[in-house]
Amino acid sequence: MPKPSQQLSAKTHQRQNQKRQLQPLLENLHDAIALINNQGNLIDVNKRACQLFGLSRRALMKRSFSSFLTAFERESFAQSLRSGQSLIGELCLCSADRVQREVEYSLTPNILLDSHLLLLRDISQRKADMAAELRRQRQRIELFSEVTLKIRQSLQLKEILHTTVTEVQRILQADRVLIYQVFANGTGKTISEAVLPDYPTILDLEFPEEVFPETYQQLYAQGRVRAIADVQDSTFGLADCLVEFVEQFQIKAKLIVPIVQVHPQALSDQNQLWGLLIAHQCSSPRHWVEFELELMQQLADQISIALAQAQFLEHLEEVVETRTAELQEVNRSLQQEITDRKQIEAALQQSEEQLRLITNAMPVLIAYVDDQQRYRFNNKAYDDWLGQSPDAIYGSHLAQVWGVDCYPQMQPQIEAALSGQVVAYENEIVLKNGNRRSVDITYIPHRDDQQLVKGFFALTSDISDRKAIERMKDEFISVVSHELRTPLTSLHSALKILATGRLGTLSNEGQQMLAIADDSTERLVRLINSVLDLQRIESGQVIIDRQICDAANLAIQAAEAMQALAQQHGVSLVTQPQSVSIWADADYILQALTNLLSNAIKFSPQGKTVWLTLEQGQSEVIFRVRDEGQGIPADQLERIFERFQQVDSSDSRKKGGTGLGLTICRKIIEQHNGRIWAESFPKYGSIFSFTVPVLE
Ligand code: ADP
Repeated sequence: MPKPSQQLSAKTHQRQNQKRQLQPLLENLHDAIALINNQGNLIDVNKRACQLFGLSRRALMKRSFSSFLTAFERESFAQSLRSGQSLIGELCLCSADRVQREVEYSLTPNILLDSHLLLLRDISQRKADMAAELRRQRQRIELFSEVTLKIRQSLQLKEILHTTVTEVQRILQADRVLIYQVFANGTGKTISEAVLPDYPTILDLEFPEEVFPETYQQLYAQGRVRAIADVQDSTFGLADCLVEFVEQFQIKAKLIVPIVQVHPQALSDQNQLWGLLIAHQCSSPRHWVEFELELMQQLADQISIALAQAQFLEHLEEVVETRTAELQEVNRSLQQEITDRKQIEAALQQSEEQLRLITNAMPVLIAYVDDQQRYRFNNKAYDDWLGQSPDAIYGSHLAQVWGVDCYPQMQPQIEAALSGQVVAYENEIVLKNGNRRSVDITYIPHRDDQQLVKGFFALTSDISDRKAIERMKDEFISVVSHELRTPLTSLHSALKILATGRLGTLSNEGQQMLAIADDSTERLVRLINSVLDLQRIESGQVIIDRQICDAANLAIQAAEAMQALAQQHGVSLVTQPQSVSIWADADYILQALTNLLSNAIKFSPQGKTVWLTLEQGQSEVIFRVRDEGQGIPADQLERIFERFQQVDSSDSRKKGGTGLGLTICRKIIEQHNGRIWAESFPKYGSIFSFTVPVLE
């Protein structure tokens, strides 16, 4: 068993052996290695450590490691050493020759008995490189943000290109930076340039197609970048055509990146070469570094974006221009429309004033009433009649203006007008001041473009005077007729007695005269009777006494009464009666029928037929008298129902008519709420029809 002292020396011996074996390896290690004792003094170092501390191995022995550290780091390192733990960190070493170095260290405590291993790696260069790279990156970012900002701020392509060349020239410290635009025909031109004052400018210089052949263009379009460190160096293969050019402009080195035009709407993904971003070095050849290449490429991309933007702007400007032109046109036509409208309004106002002047001067009520029965126009006569100003009436309802006495009488006709019918009627109105007036009222519906009734025009004229005259005239006729009838009847009787010959025989000539006198007297009596009949009906003296009667009976009675006259004229009278109950005054219907039959017989040539027929409708019976006579012209069909109207003025003489028969017929039928009318087919005859309501 060896003694402890023997044991210790054996250990030391073993350790020294290990150390000797490791020595060459540690010596040649790229990193610095130092062993320090518990006090922090250096007890062993390798060659790299000597370089790092700037002292020889001997000079370093027993020197405190902390003496190479700053005061602050010295304290923290001493603490780390005391903790006895492995450590990794960074320190700033100040070597003996006063050079400061950034080092990365790792401390492994007690690697040998009471000695600690310190591994040091000089990272100063790495840090400096990183700082330089960071600086470059910051510069690049600054440049990008500056150029990008300019692109955003400016939509002017020229300004953007100018900024790019100026900034690239500044950052790359190049002698000349330019933008060369390639045209469709292969020629090109320098359109923007930043050049140092010592060198000639090539701005606006145009190049023929040969300088930049299509094959080159295609290569650049595909993204080719050329970095020529020395134009004289044949390995760079400068095109022959460019040799003269580079010499002329003293170019020694050049860097070329393409600017491609991106078509956002292009179907193919093939981009078109728009131009080149070129940097020249004229002072000496230059080796272009990766960063410079990258910078140029990224700026060329920015220009591409600016180009697309400019193109878009151009398109936008075109659109704006077209839209502006369109808007201006719309504006012009609107202006015209406004002017036209103003003119129309002025014309309307003028014509409305004229209309108002004219209507105000008229003694009739003129108004326009809307579909809600409210006044929208009325003339001054309303003021005179109703004591209400046009302004007060405007917008008022008809019921409000006419009051409870008049409005209910007018209401059915107003409703008819608003349903689209032209209405004309006579009425008696009592005004608010108690005055009674006979009026003639006409309503004319007003329709819009869609034919919908929007209201009606109302014309009301005072016919009180005319009515009074008519009454006086009727009374006069009535009095005269009455006064004439009695002596005429006596005269007629006397003539009849004379004709019997009881009072003496007359010569042939005398008898002829007597016959004429008898005939004329008879016609006069008939005329007076007709006049009196009509006057009685019109004045309302006649009371129609309606009873249930059979239409067939009336037809038979009328035919029988006319049979003698028919035979006298050699005309056949045919009836086709049909039993239908009607609600009528039999005497008056008979009077109308006999009148129509007598006309038909009178106006039929000998040998012809007259028919009296009946037809039952839904709510009425139609009586028809048809003949095969001379017929009536179309324009006379309505007129013959007026007083004393005859188709031929000689009819009264030839046929013994008075021209009042049809007028009386119409009055009778109207009193029965029926209608009467004539139809005719000249040379084929006429049909006279009238309706009488059936008994419900
Ligand atoms: P008149 O007493 O003259 O017949 P009316 O009023 O009955 O009076 O008839 C008026 C006129 O109508 C007649 O004068 C005649 O010209 C014409 N008229 C009436 N009925 C007929 C008919 N059936 N055929 C042809 N003309 C007729």
